[in-house]
Amino acid sequence: MDAAVMWGASRDAGSVAAVTGVRHPVALARLVMEETSHLMVAGQGAARLAEERGLEMCDPDWFVTERQRDRWTAAKGTVGAVALDGDGHLAAATSTGGMKGQLPGRVGDSPVIGAGTYAEDGVCAVSATGDGELIVRATLAAEIAALMRLAGLPLQEAAERAVKKRLAPLRAEAGLIAVDHQGNVTMPFNTTVMHRGMARNGADPWSACLA
Ligand code: ASP
Repeated sequence: MDAAVMWGASRDAGSVAAVTGVRHPVALARLVMEETSHLMVAGQGAARLAEERGLEMCDPDWFVTERQRDRWTAAKGTVGAVALDGDGHLAAATSTGGMKGQLPGRVGDSPVIGAGTYAEDGVCAVSATGDGELIVRATLAAEIAALMRLAGLPLQEAAERAVKKRLAPLRAEAGLIAVDHQGNVTMPFNTTVMHRGMARNGADPWSACLA
């Protein structure tokens, strides 16, 4: 599993890569952020850190659902979240089992800050899913933030431009969820399905799967 979390107010971040046996990889990423001086911890060192600090451990098989076992065609599942709180702070978190058929030790985009995960107050929070190697090469999340910060583009335009100009030429299958400092949300994807949902104060939560 790979995971990352980023707090937009300070741009503090923590991530874990190629870790097995940890029940909540995002909690471990948060521990890295809050309780160590490091940004990313990988492999056995990350698992040992989780155990030492008393995080819940589990059998690595726990993450494989029956459905995935039946049709082992999909990636092992990515969960992303972005948030804007009542004080205007942004945050992002992503956790993933990686890509189908990946080599042991392979690390994707999710724990790479600025690729699959990024948050910066006053700008946006982004969490991506899809072809990790290509998302890293596109520096997708950082690109969206830069287009907003430097070129003054609104969130949706920045995300569209980043997908079109940076990801599309690499022929990436990918998607992302993003929120800006004003609460605007965008969730573009070119994969067949992307489960997504949103909760906002004063509105009914909703979720969707297909385009
Ligand atoms: N982006 C993830 C990775 O490359 C996989 C996914 O989101 O499906 O590890």
